[in-house]
Amino acid sequence: MNKLTAGLMLILTFISISFAQQLVKKNAMKTNPYYNTSSKEKINLPDQEWEKILSPELFNIARKKGTERAYSGTYNDFFETGFYYCAACGNKLFESDSKFASSCGWPSFFEAYSETSVKYISDKSHGMIRTEVLCGRCDAHLGHIFDDGPKPTGMRFCMNSISLKFEKK
Ligand SMILES: [Zn+2]
Repeated sequence: MNKLTAGLMLILTFISISFAQQLVKKNAMKTNPYYNTSSKEKINLPDQEWEKILSPELFNIARKKGTERAYSGTYNDFFETGFYYCAACGNKLFESDSKFASSCGWPSFFEAYSETSVKYISDKSHGMIRTEVLCGRCDAHLGHIFDDGPKPTGMRFCMNSISLKFEKK
């Protein structure tokens, strides 16, 4: 092997190592180009696209309507002052003022931040008739709403922590 070939091989080795490092980084931190806390623009993306962007945990709940285990979520027993955004798109969903200590095992709120924050659809899965709560901007599944909440609304938004992202005011 002459010096030139050895040099070239060394360069190629460096290039492939740094390329591999980039790949590892990319997979560890999926970037979400749709996350934006100031945009109101609706997002209409097929699940195949969301799957590339969201973590497997968030994809399972937001797009496949999964439910996190009761009492397991980050925000179940969490009462800091701030806002809760949709973890998939950054839409502002709830304010900490409307969060209350519910014994159900999931973060609970008595009202949404605004009329356009969330939307509701009827959910007849699992042999129950419930009202499902979706993000008003990207249609991510957030949880369900029940009418056994505290005053002033009497409503209980029973949410998955994984679908939410808290930020201090
Ligand atoms: Zn959203």
